[in-house]
Amino acid sequence: MINICIHGIGTPSKSVPAAEAAYWIGIDTFRRVLDQVAERTEVRLSFDDGNTSDVDVALPELVDRGRVADFFVIAGRLGHTGSLSADDLHRLRRARMGVGSHGMHHRVWRRLSPAEQHEELVVARRRLEEVLGEPVRSAACPLGRYDRATLAALRRLHYTRVYTSDRALARPGTWRQARFSIRAADTADDVAAWLRHGDRYAVRLADSARTFVKGLR
Ligand SMILES: [Zn+2]
Repeated sequence: MINICIHGIGTPSKSVPAAEAAYWIGIDTFRRVLDQVAERTEVRLSFDDGNTSDVDVALPELVDRGRVADFFVIAGRLGHTGSLSADDLHRLRRARMGVGSHGMHHRVWRRLSPAEQHEELVVARRRLEEVLGEPVRSAACPLGRYDRATLAALRRLHYTRVYTSDRALARPGTWRQARFSIRAADTADDVAAWLRHGDRYAVRLADSARTFVKGLR
């Protein structure tokens, strides 16, 4: 399967840091990507950073198309200008969307001190759980980066799924899920190329399964 990650949609406001603005895509690109994945249940969409475009743009388009997605929210920005509010998280859940943690401060989850790790993986999740009134079990690594110690901590804390940005295909059901992040410079055609890559992989898997069955005969 293939995970596609989207950040902001539309024109980023001035409050969006330049490093994040580099991941914002136009509404037309977003709609074309949705069209491309319309019939493809092996494609899972996720939205990082908790920008208000999640509910202003993405949510209605997803609902229109009968699609669900996961939204990874930066707990420390909840309710800030340009970021999702507590009410927005409820709106997402009412529409059957998944909500996961993207940490507290959008800093890289590498070489965290024990105090930083606690804030990013424990306190941030608890803040989201308090808003939602239900457990939060999934996380997406900020900026896609992580190290062995962070993964071990996420396991210890019983996160059931962790999303990276490793630009690779993912096996359904595995704990660590690689994703392709769309950048501002990417077009819907680039996304189509990723999807074709996924098709070739599926064909190879099917071929090797057939070869295996032949071997048993
Ligand atoms: Zn992020």
